[in-house]
Amino acid sequence: MFIYMIAIGNVQKRLLLAGAKNIKEIFGFEVRISDVPVYYRDAYDPKRGQFIANKILDRMRAVELPSMLKLIGITDVDIYEDNLNFVFGIGELGGRCALVSTHRLFHKDERIFFERVFKEINHELGHTFGLLHCKTPGCVMNFSNSVFEVDRKGRDFCSKCKSKL
Ligand SMILES: [Zn+2]
Ligand SMILES: [Zn+2]
Repeated sequence: MFIYMIAIGNVQKRLLLAGAKNIKEIFGFEVRISDVPVYYRDAYDPKRGQFIANKILDRMRAVELPSMLKLIGITDVDIYEDNLNFVFGIGELGGRCALVSTHRLFHKDERIFFERVFKEINHELGHTFGLLHCKTPGCVMNFSNSVFEVDRKGRDFCSKCKSKL
């Protein structure tokens, strides 16, 4: 079984490759990067100038790839959900699809930028493996509402979350 990664919009190949290596390290699954196109333009909300995260996820749900365990989309567009101003990502609880936006994670230092994206990938994939938010300091399943909170947590799971994985 594979965890598939896809770019939705403009995502650097280097980030996808590094993200794939990160997933392999943390989850132990082989990762494939697919270039299957996902149409997402209709998820645009012109009133807000943002994209509706769940609409993009809906499009991802229709994607079928060989031996697919999970599908993680990485997008550069700004996404929001429900009554939130924005989200860094969303993941189906116990499901198959997750989406991370790099839009608000950007940092001019690429190491910091990539590390933030890895954390959000691992967090949203954690939800697809059935994990809820966790309050253990440093655990990647900590809820993050700001880049400050993203920077404060690690990219790995605490021992409690790990045992549930
Ligand atoms: Zn979460
Ligand atoms: Zn935890």
